[in-house]
Amino acid sequence: MKYTDEQLKEAWKRLGDIAINNEEELEEDFIIDADTKFSKGTDRMDIWHWFDVHYSTGVHGLMFPNQFVTTEDFWDCECKHNYIHSSGEGTNECKICGAQRSTSPDSRVEEVKKAGLL
Ligand SMILES: [Zn+2]
Repeated sequence: MKYTDEQLKEAWKRLGDIAINNEEELEEDFIIDADTKFSKGTDRMDIWHWFDVHYSTGVHGLMFPNQFVTTEDFWDCECKHNYIHSSGEGTNECKICGAQRSTSPDSRVEEVKKAGLL
């Protein structure tokens, strides 16, 4: 079962309304959909972990939606298209624009995923 980021964002918002006790456990059931539900008593970290696995930029991306999450496994060159390169493996220079890995920014995780590279 795959969830879209929109669905996950909506579910994350609902999670914020659910009471958590002093043991960091749910005080009531938290239902994502028919396939995924967390019962009362589930540890909050288990739920965070679930979001971390399913959301494109992890639980960090849900907590800080306005921050870009980058990955050093990929980098951006100056090209308008196909500007995402994977790091290493002799690809430290773009053959089209000549940009160098060492002076180029890390790619944004969201864009790498959109390009189907992650
Ligand atoms: Zn380039």
